[in-house]
Amino acid sequence: MTQATQTLTTSTAATLKALKCRECGTEYELKATHVCEFCFGPLEVTYDYNALRRMVTRETIAAGPNSIWRYRSFLPVATDNVIDVGTGMTPLVRSNRLARRLGLNKLYIKNDAVNMPTLSFKDRVVSVALTRARELGFSTVSCASTGNLANSTAAIAAYAGLDCCVFIPSDLEAGKVLGTLVYGPRVMAVQGNYDQVNRLCSEIANTYGWGFVNINLRPYYSEGSKTLGYEVAEQLGWQLPDHIVAPLASGSLFTKIYKGFQDFIKVGLVDEKPVRFSGAQAEGCSPIAQAYREGRDFVTPVKPNTIAKSIAIGNPADGVYAIDIARKTNGNIESVTDAEIIEGMKLLAETEGIFTETAGGTTVAVLKKLVEAGKIDPDETTVVYITGNGLKTQEAIHGYINQPLTIEPKLDSFERALERSQTLDRLEWQQVLV
Ligand SMILES: *Cc1c(COP(=O)(O)O)cnc(C)c1O
Ligand SMILES: [Zn+2]
Repeated sequence: MTQATQTLTTSTAATLKALKCRECGTEYELKATHVCEFCFGPLEVTYDYNALRRMVTRETIAAGPNSIWRYRSFLPVATDNVIDVGTGMTPLVRSNRLARRLGLNKLYIKNDAVNMPTLSFKDRVVSVALTRARELGFSTVSCASTGNLANSTAAIAAYAGLDCCVFIPSDLEAGKVLGTLVYGPRVMAVQGNYDQVNRLCSEIANTYGWGFVNINLRPYYSEGSKTLGYEVAEQLGWQLPDHIVAPLASGSLFTKIYKGFQDFIKVGLVDEKPVRFSGAQAEGCSPIAQAYREGRDFVTPVKPNTIAKSIAIGNPADGVYAIDIARKTNGNIESVTDAEIIEGMKLLAETEGIFTETAGGTTVAVLKKLVEAGKIDPDETTVVYITGNGLKTQEAIHGYINQPLTIEPKLDSFERALERSQTLDRLEWQQVLV
């Protein structure tokens, strides 16, 4: 028996089948490859759902670790030796004040702003990708990143003892750059936008034999986002919501939440029901929203220009699949301006005590816009996905929040400041926006 066959006899591997082209259906071995040789379509991991139905119950999942690895049978890894840094199982919070403000009766917030270890949903996809990278024998791992992915790849590679080199656009927020460098990887700040970084990395992946989590390992990486679907279903008491709102960069996360719900329906973990899928983009980089609005089946690439850098992908790989899902589920894809994004960040912070980054501000602003347009029913159980942490994009809201009131260490100084603060209140920054 070869080494490879031995690892594939573990129980988890029994559920894994192949890589399959989403366009023409050609199947490939479970290697580090992501594009179909015949039609250039993207490859996706397939599973043996009969085996999953026999193996997995609500009880076996609930008895698993308090991380994404409780869903290991649905993830594309072959061994038990997974990289578990405690990623996943983030809070699903029942919204009170934001819900009331928007006029929604059953709003939930899936809060990946506190995902571990680097405070964005990317820790999910990277935990899966690096586990698979190690199984496939890679010693150097890499990525083309809009910021959060570099944070996750560098941190989890450090934990796993893998050599790491990441690529970012050179104009990223300071928090994202520092939050990568601290883990000690090589960091290449490329003078170009994400789409140029991505193109460069495709060339490097072909010649250097590195494991790029979102290029040659993309079929494995992307499956990690399914856990955002699984967790919401489990946290709602093994039920699906009526409507979800999530951000769109490449569109991968959005399509994989959908696949996650479908997986649970297929194996009987939840009852089948229609779930509406609505996507959020920043107007300054909204190729998917534009195509959706115009009823197109193809996405025309754009040049990004927005403060929402983490979702600024001008040429989104999964854009057409995201459009398809939004259409067939009777959802929507909307975009909002940078001013609305800042307002969304402030709104979530002030009503729910959650400080999200620009991507989360985009999602909250789109949620608001859809409610105001009557495109979300107040009685729908709606889940809004908050995917990143605001401490990493502080410059985005500089100038839009109040300054502290500097006082002398004396009671009368405090009292004067208190009086002044009551008249100023919150008007200052709001006026900047209007
Ligand atoms: C990467 C990212 C997304 C979206 O990613 P997809 O490419 O659409 O899967 C959303 N939010 C944040 C904070 C991100 O970093
Ligand atoms: Zn194909």
